[in-house]
Amino acid sequence: MKSSWGLTLFTILLSGLCLFPLQAFTSDAPPILNPTRMMQDIQTLSHPDFAGRQTGTRGGHRSAEFVAQRFHELGLTPAGQQHIDSQHKLWEQFGPVTISHIEAPAILEFSSLSAGKQTPVIPNIGSQFLPVLDSPSIHASAPITFVGYGISDPARGWDEYEGLNVQNHVVMFLRGKPSHYPLHIQHTEKERVAREKGAVGFITLTGPVLSRYAARRGMGYQPLAFYTNAREERPLSGVWISGEVGEKLFQAEGWDLKKIQETLNNERVVQSRELNTLVHMKWESTQQAGSLINVLGMIPGTHPVLKHETIILGAHRDHFGEQAGLLFPGADDNASGTALLLELARVLITGKPPKRTILFASFSGEEQNLLGSTWFVNHPTRPLKKIIAMINVDHVGIGNGQLTVGVSRMPKKVAKYVANKTGLSHKVNFYGFFPGGDHVPFSQAAIPTIAVVTSGTHPHFHQSSDTFDTIRSDMLSTAAQFVLALIAHLANKP
Ligand SMILES: [Zn+2]
Repeated sequence: MKSSWGLTLFTILLSGLCLFPLQAFTSDAPPILNPTRMMQDIQTLSHPDFAGRQTGTRGGHRSAEFVAQRFHELGLTPAGQQHIDSQHKLWEQFGPVTISHIEAPAILEFSSLSAGKQTPVIPNIGSQFLPVLDSPSIHASAPITFVGYGISDPARGWDEYEGLNVQNHVVMFLRGKPSHYPLHIQHTEKERVAREKGAVGFITLTGPVLSRYAARRGMGYQPLAFYTNAREERPLSGVWISGEVGEKLFQAEGWDLKKIQETLNNERVVQSRELNTLVHMKWESTQQAGSLINVLGMIPGTHPVLKHETIILGAHRDHFGEQAGLLFPGADDNASGTALLLELARVLITGKPPKRTILFASFSGEEQNLLGSTWFVNHPTRPLKKIIAMINVDHVGIGNGQLTVGVSRMPKKVAKYVANKTGLSHKVNFYGFFPGGDHVPFSQAAIPTIAVVTSGTHPHFHQSSDTFDTIRSDMLSTAAQFVLALIAHLANKP
């Protein structure tokens, strides 16, 4: 509201002086993006005051207040259906959602079962191991059994548990699947099998033979933060260890993990075996009920017919919070996208009013199986059939200078046209549908989606090292420029 009043006043003053028409001020002049502002917002949102913005926590709610306050100052129109009171009409709050927290300290130790070799190996929290975030409390010492990729599917002739008794053992399995296994397999499924076979816990790790996706994203050996999302059943306690720690454990047995993984992949021979190692796992964890907040604001369209159509710009705000004594600041994931969203809201509301309605959505719960965006699709505040595109921005603060854009349910030529027009075509690489992110529920609801991330490696992905000092202002600017042009095009095309 404030800005339009200011603009009107300014226009009246100037029209009085030199008879400038209104259009001169709300004109086609390209609005100017401010990278410094985006950098400041990333710094703020990744500050310890926001405690890693975990969904449902105080830090998560503070981040909602930050975005809602900014939307309010900019004069965005409320776009939610539910709100708590007039102060909060820009947001939608719902629940219960589970807030999982691993208390500090979390302890992991390996010791040899052979007589004489008694010095335990104690990996470092964060860089060498991380409990899976929704793990129950555990205090156990158990022998380790390696079960390859952890798949038990005798019907397809691939059972990595065949002939093993893992009762009261901790099972250790690689991420992913052997290349010859035909089905897509989720971590949750591996965890279910381990529990059914009687394991007391699991260790997971990325093997030395990286999948193409992992290599492209620069996800190597480091343990990553994640939730198993085993909803119906109580999850098994588990830990992700670094590839380096895994290889050392194998070396101590006289085995080569890379060779073992190659044999699994290429020769299709099960490699399961018991290690001569005892693992000690100990931590306390809590599960609490909380609520989730999506912050929604609009710039209403001005065209009599086209205003009923909507373009959504979405960026998730949530991250992993504080876990096992580590802060996960989530500067790239996704304070960067949130800062871009805020900057585009500022620029678009000061520019020429769009023909179609633009909705800005700051989702929460993305890291917990896309809870916030799924809620929106199931309780839409704009008719789903009239959402002509959902643009999702996630991880746009680091990379190699290029953008990776996944287009689904619409021709790529629209986005390509925009890239050409803005002189960015040499910096934008187009692909089809990306399987992860807040655009997924929209795509499943048959809505055209465009997912924007920066290309190249994201070496701090889902780690506590995803800090503000790693963010590149030039990357943000490229992403913001492209997304701004995309929205301007989609919102105004005939
Ligand atoms: Zn993300």
